[in-house]
Amino acid sequence: MVWKRIVQDDKMRKRITERIEGIADSLSKNKAYDSGLLGGEAGLSLYWKYLSIHSKDASHEDNFKNSVGLLTNAISNEPMDYTFCAGVSGILWTFAHLVNNNMLNDSFKKNIGEEIDEFLFESSIKDLQLGRNDYMHEGVGPILYFLERAENEFCRKSISKIIQEIHKTAHRFPEGFAWVEAGFLQVYDSKKYNLGLAHGIPSIIVLLTKVLQTRIDAEEVKKLLDGTINWLLDKKNVEGKNGLFPTTIPTEIPYTSRVGWCYGDLGISIALIQAAIATNNDDLKKESIKIGLNAAKRTHGYTGVRDVCLCHGAAGNAHIFNRLYNYTGEQEFKEASLFWLNETLDFYERNGHFKNLVHFKKNGKKGVFKHKNGLLEGIAGVGLIFLASINDIEPKWDRSILLS
Ligand SMILES: [Zn+2]
Repeated sequence: MVWKRIVQDDKMRKRITERIEGIADSLSKNKAYDSGLLGGEAGLSLYWKYLSIHSKDASHEDNFKNSVGLLTNAISNEPMDYTFCAGVSGILWTFAHLVNNNMLNDSFKKNIGEEIDEFLFESSIKDLQLGRNDYMHEGVGPILYFLERAENEFCRKSISKIIQEIHKTAHRFPEGFAWVEAGFLQVYDSKKYNLGLAHGIPSIIVLLTKVLQTRIDAEEVKKLLDGTINWLLDKKNVEGKNGLFPTTIPTEIPYTSRVGWCYGDLGISIALIQAAIATNNDDLKKESIKIGLNAAKRTHGYTGVRDVCLCHGAAGNAHIFNRLYNYTGEQEFKEASLFWLNETLDFYERNGHFKNLVHFKKNGKKGVFKHKNGLLEGIAGVGLIFLASINDIEPKWDRSILLS
């Protein structure tokens, strides 16, 4: 898509540029937490690459090459699980994404055997059969990597079989399909349906939309997608002061959910709008815009925002509203994005740092801020969001967090 940058104002552009360079400086001095995409080195490699395209600065390209070297070494030599968040499928997604967008040549494939794809496929199926259906930490994740390589026969077959497993574990209701929340979130026997984009039904809507676009098992996938959207819309409340949707079902009334990526209406809106555009469904598009506009109004009162990270902070909101603006052209989304960008900059200018993850001690009442480097909860994600706000390069990296 043609990407429209939202920041036109010189003063704001200057504030953002300073932070982009500050983040680069901090990342170059601190090692990544691990090799993974959402918290570690693979997420950093995306920052270096998008930054080097933006700034044309050779030192950022050098950092990118160094990062790719570390990842290639890690994938061959380090013990690592298969997951999308911290494991092999997320790193291979990163390589495939970079190759598909002419940001990396495909010589890395020589170092990585075909058997790794089989490992990802088998791990995915095994977890899905146990009902472990989270995209970040469980069985659904590898499908995102296979989708980046959908021209490959093995990847297409894997996508088809993973869809069959997802279909088998669906719960059928008169209003449609839903899945019990991810295995790692289940406490004792209290099985819930999760409505967050990070771990719940909206993530399955985005994945089904992506599979539908490949035309693999199109009829079955369309049926599943329509049924899942119906189930989700059935849970919408009429009053939306603190959220039109709850974070889980069953839930307490009135609904309360944050404005953020991981949970709440904003993540639901961006999931539904992608489905609406892919299926040319104007009614669904109008509905998802309404949900998004309701979230855009929530700048005061309860928002659940306490920090700046992509997952549940101010910068994450800025980026999702930016995406919504680019999908729809609605001015209110642009204004909401600028509001949250300003909140992000204010956070830094007020505190002098981006120690942006709120971490609550289990027994204590006081939260402590923790510094993180990565894409989802750290400064690499904030930097990528800043870059997307001031230039005309589409932030395609956000496919990894289900926004495109
Ligand atoms: Zn979060």
